[in-house]
Amino acid sequence: MQIVRHAVALVTALVFGAGSLAAQSFPNKPITIVVPAGAGGPTDTVARLVGESMSRTLGQQIIVENVGGAGGTIGVGRVAKSAPDGYTLVVWHIGQATAPALYDNLKYNPLDDFDGIGRITDVPMTIVGKAGLEAKSIGDLLTWVKAKQKDVTYAHAGIGSASHLCALLFMSAVNVEMTAVSYRGTGPAMNDLVGGQFDMMCDQTTGTTNQIKEGKIKGYAATTAKRLKVLPELPTLDESGLKGFEVSAWHAMWAPKGIPAEASAKLVAALQTALKDEKAIERFASLGTEPVAQSEATPDALKTQLTAELAKWAPIITASGAKGGAN
Ligand code: ASP
Repeated sequence: MQIVRHAVALVTALVFGAGSLAAQSFPNKPITIVVPAGAGGPTDTVARLVGESMSRTLGQQIIVENVGGAGGTIGVGRVAKSAPDGYTLVVWHIGQATAPALYDNLKYNPLDDFDGIGRITDVPMTIVGKAGLEAKSIGDLLTWVKAKQKDVTYAHAGIGSASHLCALLFMSAVNVEMTAVSYRGTGPAMNDLVGGQFDMMCDQTTGTTNQIKEGKIKGYAATTAKRLKVLPELPTLDESGLKGFEVSAWHAMWAPKGIPAEASAKLVAALQTALKDEKAIERFASLGTEPVAQSEATPDALKTQLTAELAKWAPIITASGAKGGAN
């Protein structure tokens, strides 16, 4: 009898326990942030940085899942089709704006199929090369690239990725054609650059700063209008003869369309807290960037920016005839 009473009590506790858990407000289980590029790359770094702080604010574990491939469209597509409950998010970048013009069979609409959480940061890019390259300066590199043309190998994170766009702009400005090597993110590409398996790459400072400082790769130039505080020795491409060359990669966070208002409000507030976090600001600064202003870390600001970026890139990509593919 005693055992039966215990069993009834246990079942009652489980049933009511489960009920009250479900009724608990958001978030009552771990949240996943999908990064549509490989581990250790710039997007991964940004996602983990804000994810750590958001996890503290929300009192829940945040798991980062790397789903690279097809210029990020595989990972972003998975999030578009996931349950709109606020537990699956994606941190991605300028690739949200380039994908529709590049991928004919894109299974999602970057504006209509997502609830924006907010913008995160705008990251400068750098031209980097393997440590063994003879070119000592950006001037040497430009001369070498012009002489070698297609013998020069450069990596990117898939068609439409930031590294791809930057390389296209670079080749067009220098008037050369080099040979592309495609990776599922510039994190894995960076490992191979350190190993000397291709010649050069254009990537965000969040991926290149430490490697340049440690001498594992060569830093040649910054793609910003002004020199970078974090790597002041790098000339800008503009001052190196490529007048007006300027490119950076913005990052933002989205959820699938239709998440509950409570989840959205809490995620936006947690993202904003992360971007005010002293430690996160310091870490961003050490990687050559800074969080966006609080007024930009909102769904509305992200929608405005993405709308403008889609309109900016579609005609450029269509005119170039570029098409995306698996990588
Ligand atoms: N930096 C990459 C890009 O070129 C993406 C990444 O690996 O984060 O778009």
